Amino acid sequence: MVARATRAADLTDLDAAVADCFACPRLVTWREEVARTRRAAFRDQEYWGRPVPGFGDPEARIAVLGLAPAAHGGNRTGRIFTGDRSGDVLFAALHRAGLANQPTSVAADDGLALRHTRIFAAVRCAPPDNKPSPAERDTCAPWLHREVDLIRPTLRVVVALGAFAWAAWWPVARHVYGVRPPSPRPSFGHGAHWSGTAVPELLGCYHVSQQNTFTGRLTPGMLDDVFARAKQLAGVD
Ligand code: SF4
Repeated sequence: MVARATRAADLTDLDAAVADCFACPRLVTWREEVARTRRAAFRDQEYWGRPVPGFGDPEARIAVLGLAPAAHGGNRTGRIFTGDRSGDVLFAALHRAGLANQPTSVAADDGLALRHTRIFAAVRCAPPDNKPSPAERDTCAPWLHREVDLIRPTLRVVVALGAFAWAAWWPVARHVYGVRPPSPRPSFGHGAHWSGTAVPELLGCYHVSQQNTFTGRLTPGMLDDVFARAKQLAGVD
């Protein structure tokens, strides 16, 4: 698996290789079962049911790092954060920030394009209860590491959505940038900012999950502040 990720010469290669990954038995079973049984509202649709590659600008200056695809979102549409409530909130915010050409993301062929921005997840298959195991996280890490490596020439800022993504960044700093993570690790929080040498700036943002957005823990204004900060740090107009 590590070898397959490392061999990917470019993002097109990487996207094709990750979509054909079967390394985690529990997640393979789950993603396929969800695709077979489907949610009633989507019973006429064919689910993707496979790992979900990253999406966006291949020369991104800003990366948005999520946890994993949603069972009836990315696992259905084949595009990360596409077709679920979390994506509705995220893409509306990216559009307000001028980083997306439209505020909605409903299907892989809906015309959405990102500007200076790429989105990917720490784990590429939808996990039961949105909870990958530590072993699954570690097994999937080489895909993330290679993706960051491929956009490394332009990448300046990473927005980590939630504590899981924040924690997933430290191995990237070590493996991709050769930077020893600080010890103890800086704590995750909304608005947290870690800055190292020769490594992208890291910004913390509460996850755009319904649990956070429906309760008001994460508001549109809070997201706007994070993306304004990310643009400033990345040198994006
Ligand atoms: S979670 Fe990652 S490593 Fe595991 S099967 Fe999916 S793509 Fe492969």
